Amino acid sequence: MIKLTHISKSFGRHQVLKQIDLTVEKGEVVVILGPSGSGKTTLLRCVNYLEKPSDGEIAIGDYRLSCKHASKKDIHQLRQKSAMVFQQYNLFKHKTALENVMEGLVVVKKLPKEEAKTRSIALLEKVGLGSKLDAYPSQLSGGQQQRVGIARALALEPEVILFDEPTSALDPELVGEVLAVIRKIAKEGITMIVVTHEMGFARDVANHVVFMDGGVIVEEGPPAELFNHPKEERTKQFLKRIT
Ligand code: ADP
Repeated sequence: MIKLTHISKSFGRHQVLKQIDLTVEKGEVVVILGPSGSGKTTLLRCVNYLEKPSDGEIAIGDYRLSCKHASKKDIHQLRQKSAMVFQQYNLFKHKTALENVMEGLVVVKKLPKEEAKTRSIALLEKVGLGSKLDAYPSQLSGGQQQRVGIARALALEPEVILFDEPTSALDPELVGEVLAVIRKIAKEGITMIVVTHEMGFARDVANHVVFMDGGVIVEEGPPAELFNHPKEERTKQFLKRIT
């Protein structure tokens, strides 16, 4: 479904990703863990070209792109296949919740306005915001804003949703409502890659956990295996520190 091959990324002379290989099957929830600075966010951003990889290949479904030779059209096509949920929500501040979700459907998917509206309302209801359609981001809690962000990603019907630390900007009491929504859509079989520090979520929801450190994948496997029987010393140390 998604195959990253030898993905590398440097910022100046600093190589942040070193030949990463990762395969994600359709319907899988992959959680990426690792210490701060290990390259998790950069890897996620490379999947939809918010960062341009220095080298490697990205395949989503039967679409394949070689990073060294990608044209603007290739990149545009690749971007259509994923949607990102950001740490800081990244909503349009001067648009309502409904308009934020509709935007991608009207501008990117070119749907007629009425159809975009009907679909957006259904998605906002799905994330528990049916009563907040006309609220502006400033009138919503962080948890509600992030749920709008999730509805917006779902609206695009991407092949994969990329979550970049979706709960790390939230007050602790708001984390649960956002994780509950992610859990719910994971059960529907939507393919996801999630960068998070929420270990409980990783244990319960992930099919596959990837531990990164220093720009490489140190270890990966099913959550029960990685959490209960980590093989690598770096994984053991990391898990000891955070659990
Ligand atoms: P993580 O998500 O694991 O905390 P990141 O992917 O955010 O790690 O960052 C990995 C490394 O890349 C860090 O050393 C960070 O400072 C560096 N980095 C990330 N983005 C940029 C950028 N736009 N310019 C320069 N360095 C960056």
